[in-house]
Formats: sequence, structure tokens, C-alpha cells
Amino acid sequence: MQVLLIEDDAQLAEAVVIALKRDNFSVNHVSNGKHALLAVETSSPDIIVLDLGLPDIDGIDLLKKFRRLKFFNPTLILTARDSLQDKIKGLDSGADDYLAKPFEMDELLARLRALERRLSSASCAIISIGDISLDTNSHELKIDEVTHDLCRREYMLLKALMESGNKIQTREVLENKLYSWGEEISSNAVEVHVHNLRKKLPQHFIQTVRGVGYVVKNS
Ligand code: CA
Repeated sequence: MQVLLIEDDAQLAEAVVIALKRDNFSVNHVSNGKHALLAVETSSPDIIVLDLGLPDIDGIDLLKKFRRLKFFNPTLILTARDSLQDKIKGLDSGADDYLAKPFEMDELLARLRALERRLSSASCAIISIGDISLDTNSHELKIDEVTHDLCRREYMLLKALMESGNKIQTREVLENKLYSWGEEISSNAVEVHVHNLRKKLPQHFIQTVRGVGYVVKNS
């Protein structure tokens, strides 16, 4: 799951980036509206966290521009403007959720997980396909009620595959979900994680679609 954080307060942004990465989101950060528009156009984030008080473009205006760019993924507004009027204006402009500063990091993470669930076919915290289930709160993989440990990227990769149901995920899309901008990534990173995941999963659960990507199949 790729989050775009649009926040000009460097200290707060850094704290949010660290917390999100720890919670297995891949996160890209921009500090002004111009870069935010570019990021939405070029990297199609899954979720946006938007500060309203930006140096160049007002957050509400930016939100309207995203909608004009046909970006309709969940957007959470993060702002010091906590009056009821601002809240209403934000939600009326198409925001999906609203969190007033100062906020608890745990609350932001819980709200992002809720938005994330809205994006996926999973309506609750547990994504299940056949006997295989992935708990998006505890990050545990269960196969036939037996719990298996996953490393961070394995978890992110399996979640991306399982929540997309029977839609094939390309390697490029998966790389975007697993790695933030500027993170070092080897050319076969996704293949390596798939290889390691396959050792823990039933044979044929993750299928390779040659030249395209990967898909999970319950067979
Ligand atoms: Ca600000």
C-alpha cells in the first residue's frame, strides 16, 4: 500500500514517515502542492494524507485538483484547522477522513488501515482466501489455523496480492507498493520475496503470469 504524505512541517512529516513504514506502508513525502500534483500524476498513490496549510496551494484547492485529475482514492486531511466549518469544507471537497493536529500517531495509523480496507475487497481486518488468511492488524499469516512468521516485505507483498483478488499485479506495481522513493531496490527484489513466500505457502498459491506479473489462486 503506497501512501503519499503531503506535509510542509518537516519534523512532523519525518515522524509520520517513520510510523507508517513501521506499520508496513510504503510512503512517499512531498512538502508542497506542486510536487504533490506531480506525484499524483506519476506515481498513483493508494492513499493520500494531506495537510491543508501548504506553502504554495491551499490543501482544499489541491484536493479539488486531484479530483479533476481523476484521482479518487482515499484522502485523509491532516490539519491544525479543527473548527467544525473547516471539517465540513474538507469533507465536502471530497476528503474521506479528517484528523486534527495534534493527533496520536496510533489514531492516524488506525484510520489509514480503515481507508485501506475500503480500497481492498476485504471488509474486515482479516483477508482470507481458502485456508489462507492474513491479519492486517497483527500482520500474521495463518494457514489451516497454523501461524507463520513473515518478514516486513513478505507481508506487504502477500497483502498486495491477496487484496487484489484475482487481478494480476505487475512487478512494477508491486515494487511501488513495497518500496518508497529513494529506497535501494535490486532488480529482482520482487522475485526474491515471491520465492521466499512460496516456501511458506501451499504450492501454486502464488502464480507467475509470464511477462506480466503475479496472481494468487486458491486451488
Ligand atoms: Ca502546514
